[in-house]
Amino acid sequence: MKKTVLVSGGAGFIGSHVTVELIEAGYEVVVADNFSNCDDTCFEGVKKITGREDLPLVKMDFCDRNAVGKLFKDYHIDAVIHFAAFKAVGESVADPLKYYTNNLQSFLNVLDVAREQGGCNVLFSSSATVYGEPEKLPVTEQSPRQAATSPYGNTKQMCEDFLRDCVAAYPGVRGIALRYFNPIGAHPSALIGELPRGVPNNLVPFITQTAIGKRACLSIFGNDYPTPDGTCQRDYIDIVDLAKAHVCAVARMLDGKMEEPYEIFNIGTGRPVSVLELVNAFEKVNNLKLNYKFAPRRPGDVTAIWADPSLANEKLGWKAERTVEETLAAAWAWERRLK
Ligand code: UDP
Repeated sequence: MKKTVLVSGGAGFIGSHVTVELIEAGYEVVVADNFSNCDDTCFEGVKKITGREDLPLVKMDFCDRNAVGKLFKDYHIDAVIHFAAFKAVGESVADPLKYYTNNLQSFLNVLDVAREQGGCNVLFSSSATVYGEPEKLPVTEQSPRQAATSPYGNTKQMCEDFLRDCVAAYPGVRGIALRYFNPIGAHPSALIGELPRGVPNNLVPFITQTAIGKRACLSIFGNDYPTPDGTCQRDYIDIVDLAKAHVCAVARMLDGKMEEPYEIFNIGTGRPVSVLELVNAFEKVNNLKLNYKFAPRRPGDVTAIWADPSLANEKLGWKAERTVEETLAAAWAWERRLK
């Protein structure tokens, strides 16, 4: 019997890529989404890529406890991957209650249903934001978490703690938190990718929108950081590589390979790339010139962060494979398709 994975937020950027990889690895998937921050483009793309026109989609809000309970009764769920959450850092500062209400309540409901049914495997999508401005680089899973600088970051830390405490308290509840570094790119089919609403906050969507003419000019936020070229350094991880890490983590849970009932893994490449290096790589691989200028630092940005991914490499048997050039070519192919 195929194992069934519930993917909350499965119609979004990361969720849609994970759904494709799960199906290709032989899992049954139930996608659940309230479409609050996406349309059905990616869900339709997932169906095309996988040839699964019958892929189950449940339109629902994870803040509705009854709806979550019903979902787990309607389907036999072996594992749940929880993506359903708001993700804009700036908006979370402007409207913290929106973030606390949605991001915390939805995950509490997942955990409560897992408890009620006597256990479940729960994978939480966390973020490198929990490390704040690290003192030592690269960061390992043992690196200290820093006080969150935004309500969004705070919800990631709090949800990690909810999962840890529920695993400790409720028999049969197991959990993995994956701390993502900077997910970028798109599926090589160009059928699914990132669909930012309004002006993009993130670097790569801003780059591709500038290249295609939707934006006049990219602002590089700060060129006076204490880094080799003065711009911030990040660990940009290909979205398909990132999605594959979820398949490895789900298999680890379902195959009884976990060494602790709650585990944390960094999902990154281990390779720092500066903003300027990323822009140059984008120009080179796609053979175009990008209009950009240097602008003041963006409040809240850390100078540099990249992963030590060796724990995930060893325990999950996973490794980032695509080069940043391949990833940027895929991001550009996706943007051109959207035009
Ligand atoms: N960045 C930039 N211009 C933009 C958007 C982002 O220079 O229009 C920089 C930002 O300052 C950071 C890096 O790109 O150094 C990655 O930012 P992003 O928002 O994509 O991810 P974050 O690391 O903040 O989660």
